[in-house]
Amino acid sequence: MIQNIQLKNQKVSIKNIINFNMNNTWLFFAPRGNKTSRENFLATLESGYPINDVKQYLSEEELTLFKEKESLYIWGNQEAKAGSWNKMNVGDYVAFCAKGEFVYVGKCVLKKQSAELARQLWGNVPNKDVTWEYTFFLDEIRPISIPLSVITELANYKKNMVVQGFMPINELGMSNIHKFYGGLTSFFDAYSSGLQTKDFIALEDVSKKETTDAQDLERVDQIFNKGNADIILKEFEQRLSTEQPSIIESKVRRIKRNQTIVKSMKEKHKNKCQICGFTFKKKDGNYYSEVAHIIPIETLQVGVDTPSNLVVMCPNHHKMHDLGNLEIISKTDYKINGVTKPLMTPLFD
Ligand SMILES: [Zn+2]
Repeated sequence: MIQNIQLKNQKVSIKNIINFNMNNTWLFFAPRGNKTSRENFLATLESGYPINDVKQYLSEEELTLFKEKESLYIWGNQEAKAGSWNKMNVGDYVAFCAKGEFVYVGKCVLKKQSAELARQLWGNVPNKDVTWEYTFFLDEIRPISIPLSVITELANYKKNMVVQGFMPINELGMSNIHKFYGGLTSFFDAYSSGLQTKDFIALEDVSKKETTDAQDLERVDQIFNKGNADIILKEFEQRLSTEQPSIIESKVRRIKRNQTIVKSMKEKHKNKCQICGFTFKKKDGNYYSEVAHIIPIETLQVGVDTPSNLVVMCPNHHKMHDLGNLEIISKTDYKINGVTKPLMTPLFD
């Protein structure tokens, strides 16, 4: 199923053949789901932490990393995740997962084990005498929108996987990111449309409705304006791939047409479009054509369903006629996109 994932930035090169190990720039995941981590996240990642409040916990050398900065983006792990934290190198990326979607990513610029720093930032873990002392500092923080399902597919994780703690992506996932996206930064680029989960839910809502009202269409337009159709379609491909279309029962009021006249018209013209002559043989052996009304039947005018008001057309020309691109202007001529041309066969007289 991996083939479904590749879309943008697919660069397959020799590089992809190398074995991935953790000496390469790696991707780590961190949860942002529960209440505590959400609050911590807001405190130190969403808006950054004032450098003056953490200066005292950093060495001179460490401070040179943040010379021009006013805010620092810091995250931390408890001891239980020290193993994963040890595997991370400066230059690796951390993506934060919330409710089935990775929403932020940043690049690690410094790792520091410091309980004092962690306490200053977040206090203690509720009801415990420990804190998130395995800290790391991030730069290049950016919002992204990567569905968890994309990651589970790339890394072959279980579909119901939950990012429960700080962890590195596996080698298969890392290798596939290179294979299908050409690397981590282009992977993030592919998912930086600015679209959020709620946008897709809005699009899904609209797509599932029987009819679409003007307000919905406006919403769709807004979403499309800031997004990219490829990204949206890819998202739908994944979200809706397991859904079965539903059936809606509806009552219709239909104008009764005289099917004998329609059949006779088609037979007279051997199902050939009176505009272009096109027809095609259906699998059942019969030829296909449609019959258009010059004065629309919807007008319910007297005599509107008579042979002199009918023209045999192919589906394309029928649609152009309905949309007003094509107009029958006399018994022998039509106008298409402003240009007058003769009909292949004249109207019924
Ligand atoms: Zn035609």
